[in-house]
Amino acid sequence: MKNILITGANRGIGLGLTRYYLDAGHHVYATARDPGDAEFSSMTQDFGDRFVPLQLEVTSESSIAALIPALAGTELDLVINNAGILPNEPLGRWTSDAFKSAMEVNTIGPALLAQALIPLMSENSILANISSGLGSCGLNINPETGLDAYAASKAALNMVTRRLACKPETGQMIVVAFDPGWVKTRIGGEEAELTVNESVSDLVATIERLAPDQSGLFLSRKGEPIPW
Ligand code: NDP
Repeated sequence: MKNILITGANRGIGLGLTRYYLDAGHHVYATARDPGDAEFSSMTQDFGDRFVPLQLEVTSESSIAALIPALAGTELDLVINNAGILPNEPLGRWTSDAFKSAMEVNTIGPALLAQALIPLMSENSILANISSGLGSCGLNINPETGLDAYAASKAALNMVTRRLACKPETGQMIVVAFDPGWVKTRIGGEEAELTVNESVSDLVATIERLAPDQSGLFLSRKGEPIPW
Protein backbone atom coordinates (compact mmCIF):
# COMPACT_ATOMS: atom_id res chain seq x y z
CA MET A 1 0.00 0.00 0.00
CA LYS A 2 1.39 3.38 -1.05
CA ASN A 3 0.82 6.85 0.42
CA ILE A 4 -0.26 9.19 -2.36
CA LEU A 5 -1.09 12.90 -2.23
CA ILE A 6 -3.13 14.44 -5.05
CA THR A 7 -4.13 18.11 -5.34
CA GLY A 8 -7.37 19.26 -6.96
CA ALA A 9 -8.77 15.83 -6.08
CA ASN A 10 -12.44 16.81 -5.97
CA ARG A 11 -13.14 16.74 -9.72
CA GLY A 12 -11.76 16.10 -13.18
CA ILE A 13 -8.44 14.31 -13.59
CA GLY A 14 -7.59 14.68 -9.88
CA LEU A 15 -10.79 12.89 -8.87
CA GLY A 16 -10.14 10.19 -11.48
CA LEU A 17 -6.62 9.61 -10.12
CA THR A 18 -7.93 9.60 -6.55
CA ARG A 19 -10.61 6.98 -7.31
CA TYR A 20 -8.12 4.85 -9.28
CA TYR A 21 -5.57 4.72 -6.47
CA LEU A 22 -8.25 4.13 -3.79
CA ASP A 23 -9.75 1.28 -5.85
CA ALA A 24 -6.22 -0.16 -6.14
CA GLY A 25 -5.97 -0.28 -2.33
CA HIS A 26 -3.70 2.69 -1.69
CA HIS A 27 -3.89 5.43 0.93
CA VAL A 28 -4.81 8.76 -0.74
CA TYR A 29 -4.36 12.19 0.81
CA ALA A 30 -6.82 14.00 -1.42
CA THR A 31 -6.69 17.77 -1.29
CA ALA A 32 -9.50 20.13 -2.23
CA ARG A 33 -10.32 23.75 -1.59
CA ASP A 34 -13.58 22.57 -0.02
CA PRO A 35 -13.00 19.07 1.35
CA GLY A 36 -16.35 19.30 3.18
CA ASP A 37 -18.21 19.17 -0.14
CA ALA A 38 -20.81 16.41 0.30
CA GLU A 39 -19.96 14.35 -2.79
CA PHE A 40 -16.22 14.49 -2.10
CA SER A 41 -16.36 13.74 1.62
CA SER A 42 -18.85 10.89 1.02
CA MET A 43 -15.95 8.85 -0.44
CA THR A 44 -15.08 8.07 3.20
CA GLN A 45 -18.10 5.70 3.16
CA ASP A 46 -16.55 3.67 0.33
CA PHE A 47 -12.88 3.80 1.27
CA GLY A 48 -12.77 4.39 5.05
CA ASP A 49 -9.55 5.82 6.44
CA ARG A 50 -7.60 5.11 3.22
CA PHE A 51 -9.30 8.27 1.90
CA VAL A 52 -7.97 11.34 3.73
CA PRO A 53 -9.60 14.58 2.54
CA LEU A 54 -7.44 17.62 3.28
CA GLN A 55 -8.03 21.33 2.71
CA LEU A 56 -5.59 23.02 0.33
CA GLU A 57 -5.71 26.31 -1.52
CA VAL A 58 -2.51 26.10 -3.56
CA THR A 59 -2.08 29.88 -3.77
CA SER A 60 -1.93 30.19 0.03
CA GLU A 61 1.39 29.63 1.78
CA SER A 62 -0.41 29.20 5.11
CA SER A 63 -2.69 26.55 3.58
CA ILE A 64 0.39 24.67 2.29
CA ALA A 65 2.07 24.99 5.71
CA ALA A 66 -1.06 23.63 7.43
CA LEU A 67 -0.74 20.37 5.47
CA ILE A 68 2.51 19.45 7.18
CA PRO A 69 1.11 18.74 10.68
CA ALA A 70 -1.82 16.93 9.04
CA LEU A 71 0.72 14.60 7.35
CA ALA A 72 2.95 14.13 10.42
CA GLY A 73 4.49 10.66 10.51
CA THR A 74 3.49 9.92 6.90
CA GLU A 75 6.09 9.04 4.28
CA LEU A 76 4.72 9.91 0.85
CA ASP A 77 5.47 7.62 -2.11
CA LEU A 78 3.79 9.72 -4.81
CA VAL A 79 2.75 13.38 -4.98
CA ILE A 80 0.66 14.57 -7.94
CA ASN A 81 0.53 18.35 -8.37
CA ASN A 82 -2.71 18.33 -10.38
CA ALA A 83 -4.73 21.43 -9.41
CA GLY A 84 -4.84 24.01 -12.17
CA ILE A 85 -6.81 26.79 -13.84
CA LEU A 86 -7.23 27.85 -17.46
CA PRO A 87 -7.52 31.61 -17.99
CA ASN A 88 -8.54 32.38 -21.58
CA GLU A 89 -8.01 35.94 -22.84
CA PRO A 90 -7.23 36.84 -26.47
CA LEU A 91 -4.44 39.28 -27.31
CA GLY A 92 -5.92 42.76 -27.01
CA ARG A 93 -7.77 41.73 -23.84
CA TRP A 94 -4.80 40.33 -21.90
CA THR A 95 -4.88 41.30 -18.22
CA SER A 96 -2.32 41.22 -15.48
CA ASP A 97 -4.84 39.29 -13.36
CA ALA A 98 -5.00 36.38 -15.80
CA PHE A 99 -1.22 36.04 -16.02
CA LYS A 100 -0.79 36.39 -12.24
CA SER A 101 -3.52 33.91 -11.34
CA ALA A 102 -2.23 31.37 -13.87
CA MET A 103 1.27 31.64 -12.41
CA GLU A 104 -0.01 31.52 -8.83
CA VAL A 105 -2.09 28.36 -9.31
CA ASN A 106 -0.22 26.50 -12.07
CA THR A 107 3.42 27.32 -11.23
CA ILE A 108 4.05 28.91 -7.84
CA GLY A 109 1.56 26.72 -5.93
CA PRO A 110 3.05 23.44 -7.23
CA ALA A 111 6.60 24.73 -6.62
CA LEU A 112 5.92 25.74 -3.01
CA LEU A 113 3.95 22.56 -2.33
CA ALA A 114 6.85 20.48 -3.67
CA GLN A 115 9.26 22.40 -1.44
CA ALA A 116 7.06 21.71 1.60
CA LEU A 117 6.50 18.00 0.84
CA ILE A 118 9.94 16.86 -0.38
CA PRO A 119 11.12 16.33 3.24
CA LEU A 120 8.12 14.00 3.75
CA MET A 121 8.73 12.00 0.56
CA SER A 122 10.42 8.59 0.60
CA GLU A 123 13.83 8.08 -0.99
CA ASN A 124 12.48 6.52 -4.20
CA SER A 125 9.25 8.48 -4.41
CA ILE A 126 7.75 10.24 -7.43
CA LEU A 127 6.74 13.87 -7.84
CA ALA A 128 4.46 14.28 -10.87
CA ASN A 129 3.53 17.78 -11.98
CA ILE A 130 0.50 17.87 -14.28
CA SER A 131 1.55 20.24 -17.02
CA SER A 132 0.05 20.57 -20.51
CA GLY A 133 1.11 20.23 -24.12
CA LEU A 134 0.38 23.95 -24.27
CA GLY A 135 3.42 24.43 -22.02
CA SER A 136 5.73 23.16 -24.78
CA CYS A 137 7.66 25.99 -26.48
CA GLY A 138 8.72 23.46 -29.13
CA LEU A 139 5.18 22.38 -30.07
CA ASN A 140 3.68 25.88 -29.58
CA ILE A 141 0.14 24.47 -29.77
CA ASN A 142 -2.74 26.76 -30.86
CA PRO A 143 -0.93 30.14 -30.58
CA GLU A 144 -4.01 31.79 -32.12
CA THR A 145 -6.10 31.04 -29.00
CA GLY A 146 -6.33 33.07 -25.80
CA LEU A 147 -4.59 30.40 -23.75
CA ASP A 148 -1.38 32.46 -23.52
CA ALA A 149 -1.23 32.98 -19.75
CA TYR A 150 -2.01 29.29 -19.27
CA ALA A 151 0.68 28.19 -21.74
CA ALA A 152 3.27 30.46 -20.11
CA SER A 153 2.41 29.17 -16.63
CA LYS A 154 2.76 25.52 -17.73
CA ALA A 155 6.08 26.25 -19.50
CA ALA A 156 7.24 27.74 -16.20
CA LEU A 157 6.01 24.62 -14.35
CA ASN A 158 8.09 22.54 -16.76
CA MET A 159 11.17 24.56 -15.84
CA VAL A 160 10.41 24.14 -12.13
CA THR A 161 10.14 20.38 -12.75
CA ARG A 162 13.46 20.25 -14.60
CA ARG A 163 15.26 22.22 -11.89
CA LEU A 164 13.72 20.26 -9.00
CA ALA A 165 14.89 17.00 -10.57
CA CYS A 166 18.50 18.22 -10.28
CA LYS A 167 18.43 19.38 -6.66
CA PRO A 168 20.33 17.36 -4.05
CA GLU A 169 17.15 17.52 -1.93
CA THR A 170 15.29 15.29 -4.43
CA GLY A 171 18.12 12.71 -4.37
CA GLN A 172 16.85 9.39 -5.80
CA MET A 173 13.33 10.74 -6.34
CA ILE A 174 11.82 10.83 -9.84
CA VAL A 175 10.46 14.27 -10.74
CA VAL A 176 8.47 14.58 -13.98
CA ALA A 177 6.00 16.83 -15.79
CA PHE A 178 3.06 15.20 -17.62
CA ASP A 179 0.75 16.25 -20.39
CA PRO A 180 -2.45 14.31 -19.54
CA GLY A 181 -3.86 14.74 -23.07
CA TRP A 182 -7.00 16.67 -24.00
CA VAL A 183 -9.52 15.44 -21.44
CA LYS A 184 -13.27 16.01 -20.94
CA THR A 185 -13.25 18.08 -17.72
CA ARG A 186 -14.18 21.64 -16.83
CA ILE A 187 -10.77 22.70 -18.21
CA GLY A 188 -10.81 20.43 -21.28
CA GLY A 189 -14.46 20.95 -22.21
CA GLU A 190 -16.96 18.56 -23.76
CA GLU A 191 -15.20 18.49 -27.15
CA ALA A 192 -12.05 16.93 -25.67
CA GLU A 193 -10.64 13.69 -27.09
CA LEU A 194 -10.34 11.62 -23.93
CA THR A 195 -12.49 10.65 -20.98
CA VAL A 196 -11.01 11.12 -17.52
CA ASN A 197 -10.70 7.34 -17.18
CA GLU A 198 -8.78 7.02 -20.46
CA SER A 199 -6.28 9.71 -19.42
CA VAL A 200 -5.96 8.35 -15.89
CA SER A 201 -5.36 4.76 -16.97
CA ASP A 202 -2.49 5.89 -19.24
CA LEU A 203 -1.04 8.20 -16.58
CA VAL A 204 -1.05 5.60 -13.80
CA ALA A 205 0.48 2.94 -16.10
CA THR A 206 3.26 5.37 -17.04
CA ILE A 207 3.84 6.39 -13.42
CA GLU A 208 4.05 2.69 -12.50
CA ARG A 209 6.91 2.07 -14.94
CA LEU A 210 8.86 5.33 -14.52
CA ALA A 211 12.62 4.73 -14.34
CA PRO A 212 15.19 6.91 -12.54
CA ASP A 213 16.70 8.04 -15.87
CA GLN A 214 13.34 9.66 -16.75
CA SER A 215 13.61 12.14 -13.88
CA GLY A 216 13.54 15.72 -15.14
CA LEU A 217 11.57 14.89 -18.30
CA PHE A 218 8.35 16.30 -19.77
CA LEU A 219 6.28 13.26 -20.80
CA SER A 220 3.02 12.46 -22.53
CA ARG A 221 0.50 10.40 -20.55
CA LYS A 222 1.89 7.35 -22.38
CA GLY A 223 5.47 8.15 -21.31
CA GLU A 224 6.82 9.61 -24.56
CA PRO A 225 9.15 12.64 -24.16
CA ILE A 226 7.59 15.95 -25.27
CA PRO A 227 9.77 18.78 -26.65
CA TRP A 228 10.38 21.54 -24.12
P1 NDP B 1 -10.81 20.69 -13.61
O1 NDP B 1 -11.19 22.10 -13.82
O2 NDP B 1 -11.87 19.64 -13.67
O3 NDP B 1 -10.10 20.53 -12.18
C1 NDP B 1 -9.22 21.50 -11.70
C2 NDP B 1 -8.95 21.20 -10.24
O4 NDP B 1 -8.02 22.16 -9.75
C3 NDP B 1 -10.20 21.29 -9.35
O5 NDP B 1 -10.14 20.29 -8.35
C4 NDP B 1 -10.05 22.67 -8.72
O6 NDP B 1 -10.67 22.83 -7.47
C5 NDP B 1 -8.53 22.70 -8.53
N1 NDP B 1 -8.05 24.07 -8.30
C6 NDP B 1 -8.19 25.15 -9.10
N2 NDP B 1 -7.66 26.23 -8.52
C7 NDP B 1 -7.18 25.82 -7.30
C8 NDP B 1 -6.54 26.48 -6.23
N3 NDP B 1 -6.27 27.79 -6.26
N4 NDP B 1 -6.19 25.74 -5.14
C9 NDP B 1 -6.46 24.42 -5.09
N5 NDP B 1 -7.09 23.74 -6.06
C10 NDP B 1 -7.44 24.44 -7.16
O7 NDP B 1 -9.65 20.41 -14.67
P2 NDP B 1 -8.75 19.15 -15.05
O8 NDP B 1 -9.08 17.98 -14.20
O9 NDP B 1 -8.80 19.03 -16.50
O10 NDP B 1 -7.30 19.70 -14.68
C11 NDP B 1 -6.35 18.99 -13.92
C12 NDP B 1 -4.96 19.37 -14.39
O11 NDP B 1 -4.77 18.87 -15.73
C13 NDP B 1 -4.71 20.88 -14.47
O12 NDP B 1 -3.43 21.17 -13.99
C14 NDP B 1 -4.80 21.17 -15.96
O13 NDP B 1 -4.07 22.32 -16.33
C15 NDP B 1 -4.22 19.90 -16.54
N6 NDP B 1 -4.54 19.67 -17.94
C16 NDP B 1 -5.83 19.38 -18.31
C17 NDP B 1 -6.13 19.17 -19.64
C18 NDP B 1 -7.51 18.84 -20.09
O14 NDP B 1 -7.71 18.70 -21.33
N7 NDP B 1 -8.49 18.66 -19.20
C19 NDP B 1 -5.09 19.24 -20.68
C20 NDP B 1 -3.77 19.53 -20.17
C21 NDP B 1 -3.53 19.73 -18.85
P3 NDP B 1 -12.12 23.60 -7.30
O15 NDP B 1 -13.17 22.56 -7.57
O16 NDP B 1 -12.10 24.08 -5.88
O17 NDP B 1 -12.12 24.72 -8.30
